[in-house]
Amino acid sequence: MPFLNLGVLAHVDAGKTTLTERLLFQAGALDALGSVDAGTTRTDSMELERRRGITIRTAVATFDVGPLTVNLIDTPGHSDFVAEVERALTVLDAAVLVVSAVEGVQPQTAVLWRALERLGVARIVLVNKVDRLGADADAVIEQIRCRLTPDVLPLAQVTLSGRRDAAVTPLSLDDPTVTDVIFERDEGLMRRWASGQRLRDGELLRVARREVAAGRLTPVLIGSALTGAGIDLLMDAFSELLPAAPDPSAGRPAGVVFAVQREDGRRRCLIRLAGGRLTIRDRVAVGRRRAATVTGLWSSSPKGMQPVESATSGEIVAVAGLDDARIGDEFGRVVHRRARPTLGRPVFDVVVEPVDPDERTPMYAALAELADIDPLLGLRRVDGDVIVSVYGEVQQEVLAAILADEHRIGVRFGSVGIACVERITRVGEAVEQLGLDGNPYLATIGLRVESAAPGHGVEFRPGIERGRLVPAFIAATEEGVRAALAQGSHGWPVVDALVTMTASKYCPRQSHAHQRFNKAMSSIGTDFRNLAPVVVAAALRRAGTVVCEPIHRFELDAPVDALGPIGGLLARHGASITATSPDRDRLRCVGEVPAASVGSITRLLPDIGNGEAAFATEPSHDRPIAGAPPHRRRRGPDPAERLAWFRDVPR
Ligand code: GDP
Ligand code: MG
Repeated sequence: MPFLNLGVLAHVDAGKTTLTERLLFQAGALDALGSVDAGTTRTDSMELERRRGITIRTAVATFDVGPLTVNLIDTPGHSDFVAEVERALTVLDAAVLVVSAVEGVQPQTAVLWRALERLGVARIVLVNKVDRLGADADAVIEQIRCRLTPDVLPLAQVTLSGRRDAAVTPLSLDDPTVTDVIFERDEGLMRRWASGQRLRDGELLRVARREVAAGRLTPVLIGSALTGAGIDLLMDAFSELLPAAPDPSAGRPAGVVFAVQREDGRRRCLIRLAGGRLTIRDRVAVGRRRAATVTGLWSSSPKGMQPVESATSGEIVAVAGLDDARIGDEFGRVVHRRARPTLGRPVFDVVVEPVDPDERTPMYAALAELADIDPLLGLRRVDGDVIVSVYGEVQQEVLAAILADEHRIGVRFGSVGIACVERITRVGEAVEQLGLDGNPYLATIGLRVESAAPGHGVEFRPGIERGRLVPAFIAATEEGVRAALAQGSHGWPVVDALVTMTASKYCPRQSHAHQRFNKAMSSIGTDFRNLAPVVVAAALRRAGTVVCEPIHRFELDAPVDALGPIGGLLARHGASITATSPDRDRLRCVGEVPAASVGSITRLLPDIGNGEAAFATEPSHDRPIAGAPPHRRRRGPDPAERLAWFRDVPR
């Protein structure tokens, strides 16, 4: 049976949850239609989700359309979760983007669109809420053309728009407005048609499918998730136009962990199977960690998660037993059909404190459990403070809600800092010699550090020392190098660096007859691991590093007459506009803003824009901070203080 793993993406309030509920109901997977407004939907399960009307946790719901099984993946809509959305996108076969026919394309819609485009996900758009007063589907399709993509294929039209009884009718594939779009993409087909040949049934459909699968063409449907108008056409489009998961394949099981949940205190990983068949009691090594046994297996079905003995490629399953698995982990041979997520690390470091000071230990344990699921949380302790990394304030609120709901621990957030990075400016070299200048370790290490292209990461090269040095010592040197780069000259992590080993020496293992291995006279891994940071610190000082702050790309949509004050607000916060485009009495701007300013712009904008301005951001890049570089408190001894390090880090 074919599977279609379909993401639902939307600006908050566009109707994502209502649509999910409607699809499940219409496909017969729900006996009663739940409502967001009454708090009875199937997918918004957390209390906070109901209260705030936002989806926080990725949820899966399944229904059948003919022979096709559709797994709907409801992703968080808020920009604080754009990285989570991106991670979910990597497991999708296709996505449906929901746009409101009243509010139209919002800045957040554009941000989500860009993520879909970047990862090459096949997509379909639903212009929703055509029953609502003020709905104008044609105007919204025009906005989609201007702001998202010119390559749209409208497949429906509406009558009685803006009324409760609004009705939607299909535009068939041989309607001239539709054939024109398809002929533009297939010259052969067009020539045959122009020369009077009859086209076989399904030929237009085949071209449309091909273009949609490649992300070059986006079908646009119209409807109302609330009344159900047009939703049957949307479901037809799922099965006719979207690319289903590749056929269940032979071979060993493979999959991607895209979410981790807790059910009755047990961890369950949500996994998209991407090859072979997974069976209970299989042993799988997730994320290259130790193999673990699958102790429980559930498959997403129209009746919810159902226990199964085995599942095949293309399915979404919940798996128990993989207690070390983290979001983003893979096992087996996963063939990626699309680009990997590009969004970087969270940009804020916040201090978390328990409301009740006695709950420090359980709070840390609960956070550790969350960090264990999601490596991006970056939980750590610095001088007694508990610090996590987040994308924004909504995520902070969500974190607090999870701790309250699932762990009964109240927390508040203390000082917030921006998470900077350091980049190397020039090339720097340093060497420490065995037995010289107070070096207490039985090792010589020389290193050269230089910067690598953005996104390259840290690369360690043993250089010509590879052949001369015991592999274990090279590995220990690399460990020491990486640990040292976690805190550069100003205390921030050094990113995108190339480190080459230029010199090395060690004392060989005692080999005299009758003499046993003697640590006092022979080098061990620790010598290299502990000396490397001192060499890195010296090389970094010579190379120089610059502290860079995270920058977000923003989309802003505002009434033209509020632009003066909004421009002032942006300028005061160090934001710059890179492009503008007018749209009737509104103006859309795209630009860059320091991540540090996003929170206060978001807070101040509603007043300044009279509630009419919309603003959305996504992490983009980093750039050198103006003025004196901020320092980050350092953990542990400082390898730049050479002699103090030698004293405090004994061999
Ligand atoms: P989400 O934030 O994208 O998940 O949006 P919801 O599904 O929570 O819907 C937000 C609000 O819009 C709720 O009050 C819904 O009842 C309402 N809504 C959703 N879809 C429609 C629709 O098609 N027509 C109308 N009139 N209201 C809708
Ligand atoms: Mg929702």
